[in-house]
Amino acid sequence: MPSGMSRSFVDIAQAILAQPTAPFHEGAVRREILRLLESCPHVTVQTDAFGNLIALYQRGGVTPKLAFAAHMDHPGYVGDRFLGGVPEVYRAANPATRNFGAFAMWDLPAFELREGRIFSRACDDLIGCAAVVSMFHELERVEATAAVYGLFTRAEEVGFVGAIALAKARVLPESVVIVSLETSSERGGACRMGDGVIVRVGDRTSIFDSAATSWLSHWAREGQIPFQRCLMSGGTCEATAYQLYGYRTAALCVALGNYHNCGPEEKIDSEFVALADAEAMARLCTVAASAGELPDPAEALRNRLEHESEQYRAYF
Ligand SMILES: [Zn+2]
Repeated sequence: MPSGMSRSFVDIAQAILAQPTAPFHEGAVRREILRLLESCPHVTVQTDAFGNLIALYQRGGVTPKLAFAAHMDHPGYVGDRFLGGVPEVYRAANPATRNFGAFAMWDLPAFELREGRIFSRACDDLIGCAAVVSMFHELERVEATAAVYGLFTRAEEVGFVGAIALAKARVLPESVVIVSLETSSERGGACRMGDGVIVRVGDRTSIFDSAATSWLSHWAREGQIPFQRCLMSGGTCEATAYQLYGYRTAALCVALGNYHNCGPEEKIDSEFVALADAEAMARLCTVAASAGELPDPAEALRNRLEHESEQYRAYF
């Protein structure tokens, strides 16, 4: 993060990752996000009927064009059922769990920063939530004239339950492009942890809006933010869900190790991400949110190709 930032990405990530969570039991994460957003005077937050948070930074008479979305849950035990995608072979050994009343998580550290990596029981997707909160803090710090949504959803791990409720309720104008923020298994793409935020062109199920995807790459280059452009097919993200309900979508993610706590030798372990990648994701959100009119990448590319083809006119 640039120096002088009011609250560092690490502080925000640590505060959010400290909260326990499971599908349908995101209350502690939600409260922490609300607390962190209290110091953002230009952010208003609405809670929808399902308990998703819809936050809006609005400064100046700008119309919001983008929404950055992350989910607040993580696979875990709810009662005696395991909710979320963790293969039976990992659960069969009955790894130690920590009880939080209505739900339990694996008994792993909430937050550890070692050798440039964040290790946690739930990087997925609390790192995404931290990136959105960090974007809001940075927009406040630089007093950006901008308008941008941040969405924090529930119960993604069991099939996008929160995102579907949000999409169906049509809370967001249909002109808003929804950008899903995730941690995604490093094995799902030709990416490398530590090489920058990933402009995720698609997931296991869908590909996303081509123009919106190229805006993200454009803004990363403009902001000199290290990025990679990959299809991450290790899982399906919320962009697929929003797209099914008619929204234009794009996605960013960071490479995730030990996806869903599945470590080597079928042992449950902490998930991990590179801190620099997560910071790059937060910065790219901030640059995108502060950008003016969205460029038409098709027009720019068309002009360039037509211009280049002119030099071969003699051969036509
Ligand atoms: Zn997940």
